[in-house]
Parts: sequence; structure tokens; C-alpha cells
Amino acid sequence: MNRIGVAIRVAVAILACSACAPRAQALIIQTEFLGGAPQATAVGGGDLQTIFEAAASVWESAILDPYTIDISYGWAPVGGAQHVLLAQGGSSNRETSGQILFNNDTTLGHFVWFLDPDPLSNSAYGALTEESADLGGGEINVGRTYSGFSSEVGADVLSCLMCSDLFSDALHEIGHALGMSAANFDYIAQSAGGTIDITASLPFSGTRLQLVSNFEVSAHFDNSDVLAGTVMGGRGGYGLREYLSAADILAIAQLSDFRDIQLDPVSRLPVQAPEPSTTALLICGLGLLAVWRRGSRQATERRYGARSTSTQSGSPPPLFPGGVNVCVPVLENVPIVVVAEVVGSNHCA
Ligand SMILES: [Zn+2]
Repeated sequence: MNRIGVAIRVAVAILACSACAPRAQALIIQTEFLGGAPQATAVGGGDLQTIFEAAASVWESAILDPYTIDISYGWAPVGGAQHVLLAQGGSSNRETSGQILFNNDTTLGHFVWFLDPDPLSNSAYGALTEESADLGGGEINVGRTYSGFSSEVGADVLSCLMCSDLFSDALHEIGHALGMSAANFDYIAQSAGGTIDITASLPFSGTRLQLVSNFEVSAHFDNSDVLAGTVMGGRGGYGLREYLSAADILAIAQLSDFRDIQLDPVSRLPVQAPEPSTTALLICGLGLLAVWRRGSRQATERRYGARSTSTQSGSPPPLFPGGVNVCVPVLENVPIVVVAEVVGSNHCA
């Protein structure tokens, strides 16, 4: 990079830091990239670090309570995606440290990733669909999904019939880390009835969010009905990007005792054309742009499956007392791939 380029990046960093200063009072997801080899069969041309940071920025724009969580992430042959709670605590009992791994093997039936080279632009996807429902506490958004790849994406993406959007899955796994985890003590207590019930300290109190029927071993919304479009439903699918819904944000706030939340983070984005005086704001807005994607569904080529599992040879996930959230891919007409066996683990359903 030449001197001008360096100067620009330094200026951008300073402006971004200044513009985003209020974020110091909001959720901070401190990330550490663990490395690992990128998946050879992944398409799209993007990279895990960019995508994961973008997903983290979306959650940071939704949770405004001051709180810092450490999340390490990387590539590993885990079949799908996996969250591990490493530590939890505090007066509100939140996860304080977690690890998230994304599959990098090329085994048939395991996740093949779409690596969006520009995840915050959402330009790889087609139409946005927002859905809402009254689940007992007034009408709330229950889905923000983008469907279909745009004509801008390459032939490799269009030919990848089983590719999963890693950005959507990063949002999903971070959601586990923020509280929707079978290893989280508050989740265990609050999910005992099979739902997450929003209480009076939050907007839309009385809302009842249905968990999968096997909620004892999973930490996901029931994606067979009204919550099908939620990030924490974990439905996924070809040509589909799932963005944070109000239901996702409310559930995390309820579970981890967050009170200052933004149920439609998109509305916080700058809407005016850039001007010199607003450059810093715009830069900050680029970070928040992640929120700006949703769409309707298409037929899905694969779904997550809730299954008891056994350990995949050569890639045993670490066993932690708190358990693991494992997202296991299940392809229709393809044998279930068993990925991990962990006491108290969660499997995407
Ligand atoms: Zn999951």
C-alpha cells in the first residue's frame, strides 16, 4: 500500500473510532481469530474474518447495554458450525467467553460455505422479506430474510446447490454465545417450559417464543412455524440469508438480561448521502450496515437437524463443562452426518 493509501486507512480508522465512540457503552464482541485453513470448496471469494466481524457488528448494533464478551473463532473440521461456552458468570449470568468454529472439511453432507466478499452490502442476495406476528405481546418482527442470489454473484455460487451463508451462520452462532445456549444457566432455567417468555422489563412483554420440541438438548427456536425466518431458528438454505429479527434480539435480551436494545438495528443506519462533515458517521454506519439484509425464503436444499451424535474421527470438539452448541447439517436424501457427541450439547434443529 502506498503512502496515500496508508494515510487514508489511518484517517478512516481515526474517524471510525471517533464516530463509533458510543459503542464503548454498548455491547462489545472482542474477537480472536484462531486460524485454520479456509474450506477448499467454499465459494464466493470472501474470507471468514471479514464475515465474522460483520456479523459481530450487527449484534453490537442490536444490544446497547455495556457488556464485553470474548469470542474466538476459526476454521475446523466440525461438519457444520459449533459454539462452545467457555465461561459464564456475573450478576446477570452471561457468557463471558466462547469459541465458535466453522467447518472446513469437504465431506459430503457437511456444510459448504458461501463466503460473501462484501457481507455488509448484502448485494449478493435478492429480495428482502420482513415478517411479523403477535406472539402474545403485540406484533413483532419475526423474520428478516433475503432470498435468492443476485445476478452479480459468480457462476460458482449459483452452481453451489448446498452452500450455506456463513454470514447467517455467524449471526446464529454468536446468538448462542450471547445467551441462547443449553450450557447457559439462565437459558436452562428460562427454557424449562419450552419457550422463552419476554417479561415486563422488555418491550413486547408477554411474547412467547417457541423453542424446538427437544428443547432439553437444543437452544433454537422452533423453525417449523412462525419463527421459521429467525436467525436462532437456524433453518438456513440455498440462496437464503437470515438477518436478525426482533424475535432473535428479544430472546437474547431476555436470557442475558440486556435492557437497552434496538429491535430494528437497520433504522440506525445513516440515510443521507455522504458529505465531508458526515464521513465519520458514514464509516460507522458501514459497520452497522450489516443489519440491512433480509429476504423471503425459497425451498431449502438443506436444513439443520437435531440429532444425537457421535464423535467425528480426527476432529473431536473440545469438551467443556458447559456443553457445546453444534449445528449439524442434514441434507435431504443424504445420510445424516454425525459430528459431535458432547454431554449437554445443542444441535441445530
Ligand atoms: Zn445453533
